[in-house]
Amino acid sequence: MELSGLQIFKYLPAGKKIQGANCKECGCPTCMAFALKVAKKQIAIDKCSKAPSELVEILESALKIQQHEIQFGVNKSLKTGGETVMFRHQKTFVNKTVFAVTLDCCDKEFFEKLKKIKNYSIDRIGELFKVDAINLIGDNDVEKCAKEVISAGFSLILNTDDEKVFNDLKNFNPIMRNSKVGDILTAKASSLDELSLASQKLIDEGKKNIILDFDISNKSLKESVEALTYIRRLAVLDKNEPFTYPVMVHIKEKNVYKTAAWAASLICRYANIIILDEFDEAMMTTLLTLRQNIYTDPQKPLQVESKVYEVNEPDENAIVMMTTNFALTYFAVLSEVESSPFSTYLVITPSDGMSVLTAWSAEKFTPEIAAKMIKNSEILKTVKNKKIIIPGLLAHLKEDLEEAIDGWDIIVGPNEAYKLPDFVKNNVM
Ligand code: SF4
Repeated sequence: MELSGLQIFKYLPAGKKIQGANCKECGCPTCMAFALKVAKKQIAIDKCSKAPSELVEILESALKIQQHEIQFGVNKSLKTGGETVMFRHQKTFVNKTVFAVTLDCCDKEFFEKLKKIKNYSIDRIGELFKVDAINLIGDNDVEKCAKEVISAGFSLILNTDDEKVFNDLKNFNPIMRNSKVGDILTAKASSLDELSLASQKLIDEGKKNIILDFDISNKSLKESVEALTYIRRLAVLDKNEPFTYPVMVHIKEKNVYKTAAWAASLICRYANIIILDEFDEAMMTTLLTLRQNIYTDPQKPLQVESKVYEVNEPDENAIVMMTTNFALTYFAVLSEVESSPFSTYLVITPSDGMSVLTAWSAEKFTPEIAAKMIKNSEILKTVKNKKIIIPGLLAHLKEDLEEAIDGWDIIVGPNEAYKLPDFVKNNVM
């Protein structure tokens, strides 16, 4: 628990109104000045010999890490762990669940399968997603296969304790699974007690980069979710050191629907790394979409730049549409407009990433803001058809918008983006 300066002050002699207050031994003019510095971590609590042990314990506990962030992969580009809350709405989740797919070096189709995974990506709400890592198994040409995996752009999870292989690949910072050699090692167990012991053993050996490889192969989904929830609680709430490392699970299910159900549950509760034995594009898209939703910071709505976007090579005969800069709204409208035959200027207003009605109720979408966007745009001055299609949810602003945006007609469009092409065809063209 972090303490504020005022909370710390209450433990000090001046805060308790007892003898010895403001003695300046700590180098600060008053206990309050000292407390404020302690809260900002500018001075250590042991500079005050009168600080009670209760306060020292609270501050020491606050300094303990809840969950270590481990970086791995080429240039340590993948981060996992670092979580500080049980629920996203308490603050935010930090590092997205890492997805790894198993490939076997002995598999005759190894390169074909790797190519298929390499060629897969999705672009959703302005973010590009792909599989993050490959869990490499098998003992045939491991180094060759590993280098192919790396050159395909994936991070590595290796299942070998061959020191030569590690030395050859250590610059790529692989997770060394079931291995005694390596910089990033795994503590493997199938129960919480065993996991605690395995993790503590690595801590005692001085290892800093530990991944908790929790074996769920003999557990039901319910048991797995319960166990991972306990582990996250032990880390985030109790700061129980052996559990303060990212958790990796391996879903050894072949059925794609069951795999998707398991992985979807474990994204939410509480796997930091998920290894899949099956790669399926539709399943991956489902999981990456869910992951994006769970790992979006609830305090920072996804938003796009506010400006006039040109869609389908617009000219003087183009249609003009307007909506807010909430990313989901923008991409929903954009995909409909892009796939329609109409060339369009899409006016995206500055609305702090709020959706249409939220922006209006928070006064982030007003006739004045809309008018400023139109008046400041040189390109819109070339448009002959002075009509702006606004979202149906803003129908009540039609008259105010027409008054504010001089010389333009306001057309109230549909509530849903998917109705835009038909609406334009039937009402504007
Ligand atoms: Fe207050 Fe302790 Fe500093 Fe003295 S040493 S001024 S009691 S905080």
